[in-house]
Amino acid sequence: MIRMYDLIQKKKEGKALSEEEIIFMINNYTKGLIPDEQMSAFCMAVYFQGMTPSETSALTMAMANSGDMIDLSHIDGIKMDKHSTGGVGDKTTFIVMSIVASLGVKVAKMSGRGLGHTGGTLDKIEAIPGVKIEFEPDEFANIVSNIGACLVGQTAELAPADKSLYALRDVTATVDNLSLISASIMSKKIASGSDGIVLDVKTGSGAFMKDFDDSLELAKAMVAIGESCGRKTASLITDMNVPTGKTIGNTLEVIEAIQVLKGGGPDDLRDICIELSANMVNLAVGTEIETCRKQAKAQLENGQAFKKFTEIIQAQGGDINYLNDTTLFKKAEIIHNVIAPETGYISHMNAESCGLASCMMGAGRLRSEDIIDHSAGIILNFKTGDFVNQGDTLATFHTNNQSSIAGAEETFLKGFNFSAEKPAPTPLIYARITKDSVERQ
Ligand code: URA
Repeated sequence: MIRMYDLIQKKKEGKALSEEEIIFMINNYTKGLIPDEQMSAFCMAVYFQGMTPSETSALTMAMANSGDMIDLSHIDGIKMDKHSTGGVGDKTTFIVMSIVASLGVKVAKMSGRGLGHTGGTLDKIEAIPGVKIEFEPDEFANIVSNIGACLVGQTAELAPADKSLYALRDVTATVDNLSLISASIMSKKIASGSDGIVLDVKTGSGAFMKDFDDSLELAKAMVAIGESCGRKTASLITDMNVPTGKTIGNTLEVIEAIQVLKGGGPDDLRDICIELSANMVNLAVGTEIETCRKQAKAQLENGQAFKKFTEIIQAQGGDINYLNDTTLFKKAEIIHNVIAPETGYISHMNAESCGLASCMMGAGRLRSEDIIDHSAGIILNFKTGDFVNQGDTLATFHTNNQSSIAGAEETFLKGFNFSAEKPAPTPLIYARITKDSVERQ
């Protein structure tokens, strides 16, 4: 008979658990038959001893199987998914799903909410009045079939073992373990039912993984899990030392995404979206990656990606007048200019501090029960590498909460360093990881 006590002991001694033991542990934990104290001890043992790739795959599949396994097989064609490990100003999903769907590849996207300094795609899409993010499975499948893409929230029945385990890891200092993170993310992706997944692993000051080598290991582990579960999987490692684009906060980010979809917007945001889209199309249909890049770029320039976004939002009940005329979005009542405290090049800006400052003004949740103010956020006028004169407006804060401004400004400015020398530019995309290779960019 398998006993949880023995599994903890085995892991404590650095031994690998069998698939049967992992399935036993996850099934019984999900049923409430293994108490949190034993599961916490197990996570701590994993934190110190690690897991082998086959243990990590077994954990992923056991957690994926702990709830609904979404079946998308009745929808024609290859269904692709994209996942970002979380960052600041990351509004790429809206752009990428529209480009990819406009190129005929279906996107069945399940997204989460923001917590802490990072934003969540569900919170962002809800900034568009009328948009629904909960559908019956057949409604979701119909939108994916007919329009080409749909973005919904993860239900409580998707990988419930991960939900409980993640909450436990959060309070027992065991989140930051490579096997536990990769199994957690991939269990939800596998349960979501897509045929292929492109992972956007963020690296840098605003990312979960601050260090490139850790990000690379995470990307490799997740690609290996995806492939071992029969899903075509690739990963990009992208920069999160600075926020993506120039906006942080839900409505502001949607407006910026619309600018890119209409062929404008900031270069870094557009370029990351083209690269993610190209990788999704490449995995789905096998077209050579350079051709996919050209196709993705063209869809932004010829209006097809924006047209597709409009169709998706309309199918999800959103008011598309807001997409055609973004001045309709409700603005925050207080607009506060943050002034550059000195003259010089910005040598460093901490993306996490930018995200936190935005949350403090109402754009995000510092606790899960907090209510979001969609109009709150930050517009960045300058980013790392830019030259500023003392007195320039470094950024503009948007908020409805006057009392939050002083603290947010202090947090925001604390992340900045200035220098007389122009800093060396950092890459936007560091690496592409597929089952066969790691290509450093
Ligand atoms: N995101 C997840 O879904 N799980 C983790 O463990 C970390 C980040």
